[in-house]
Amino acid sequence: MYAEPDLTGVTVDTTAPVLVTGATGYVAGWIVKGLLDAGVTVRAAVRDPRNTAKIQHLVDFAEKSPGAIEFFAADLLTEGSYTEAMAGCRIVFHTASPFTTRVDDPQRELVDPAVQGTRSVLESANANPSVQRVVLTSSCAAIYTDATDCAAAPHGRLTEDVWNTTASLDYQPYSYSKLLAEKAAWEIADAQSRWRLVVINPSLVIGPAANTQPTSESFSIVRQLGDGTLRWGAPRAGLGVVDVRDLARAHIAAAYLPHAHGRHIVSGHETDVLELGRVLLPRFGDRFPLPRRALPKPLVWLAAPSAGLTRTFVSRNVGVAWHADNTKSRHELGMVYRPLRQSMEDMFEQLVERGTFTARA
Ligand code: NAP
Repeated sequence: MYAEPDLTGVTVDTTAPVLVTGATGYVAGWIVKGLLDAGVTVRAAVRDPRNTAKIQHLVDFAEKSPGAIEFFAADLLTEGSYTEAMAGCRIVFHTASPFTTRVDDPQRELVDPAVQGTRSVLESANANPSVQRVVLTSSCAAIYTDATDCAAAPHGRLTEDVWNTTASLDYQPYSYSKLLAEKAAWEIADAQSRWRLVVINPSLVIGPAANTQPTSESFSIVRQLGDGTLRWGAPRAGLGVVDVRDLARAHIAAAYLPHAHGRHIVSGHETDVLELGRVLLPRFGDRFPLPRRALPKPLVWLAAPSAGLTRTFVSRNVGVAWHADNTKSRHELGMVYRPLRQSMEDMFEQLVERGTFTARA
């Protein structure tokens, strides 16, 4: 097993259960593990508790930990779905939200579950007097759409004061869904004063999966690095990344540190797609067709439609550096980010072990 979330400096309250929505997910898996290892009783809200393939890793974590896990069936699109699971909880971690870029109907597949689900969870918090804090997994996508947005931010870096103004149903609808969901969350939270909303805004999440069949979009780029798609080169599309285990720590710190408040950019490194491949070269370069050089922007622009990218995306991201200020996460949540190479190696190694790529003979 890979290095765990490091909870140094966080005193976890084990006297009340906590709710984790979307517990089957990539991000949630390590949050649940961190909580169980700290001795917490976790109410895991999942779409189908009978789907053992999706929950077995959580059962296994619980068996090896001082904590306990209870499963509840819940769906973002079913009103009141989370109320029963939330009864008696002081903390709610709301991570559930669809994260995919391959959709036919972005309103129905992304925006509706993200926004209606967030409303449903927070309205249940309003109805449950035990709830004191809700930690929402938002995204840097609620802050920006394209790397070019960084230049327009104060001092050229994204901060917690910046909101996404460029995503829409037609352009980067996942980002739009995260923007609308976070806005809805603040609207509900600001209309009351009993519980506090603390928001985590991660950049692209990398690192090994706790779940056995991850479907998170995080895996798309890394699969392409190893399967030969990018063997002739990779675009220098600027982005931020954070390790999934560091992100779990950020959520748990946001839940239990008394002073935690507001939004938090949780991002360990400013990088680009080519660099994500290059850090893997020393360990995996002799066996896998990893990218070694940058694809020229005009070439990426020409080939964009066949690679499932829009030319607007290429114009606004390839060759554009990504910058965000993670000071608040370091100072207020005590984040210490692990090296990029460690996250990428652990993630790639897991994909190799799971037979995702064929190594060169
Ligand atoms: P993931 O593995 O696909 O997890 C998404 C979770 O949401 C799954 O548990 C999924 O349940 C659940 N979900 C989706 N639609 C649902 C519905 N209608 N009702 C109930 N549950 C539903 O993706 P992830 O990367 O862990 O994402 C988790 C959170 O992190 C999301 O809020 C995402 O926006 C945020 N985030 C992710 C990244 C990243 O790079 N991965 C970056 C920033 C923010 P099933 O297992 O049943 O499908």
